[in-house]
Amino acid sequence: MIYNTGDKPGKGDYKCTHCRFMITLETDDDVLPPCEKCFKTEWEKV
Ligand SMILES: [Zn+2]
Repeated sequence: MIYNTGDKPGKGDYKCTHCRFMITLETDDDVLPPCEKCFKTEWEKV
């Protein structure tokens, strides 16, 4: 399942589908940012 920048997919760990940089959303209200490494906008739940 792919999520996009601006989505609120819920707390958990997400990996950039382009460069594999990982982020953590701490709450269900957190919004996925652009990737801070490659600036792509697609994330995959880890
Ligand atoms: Zn990236």
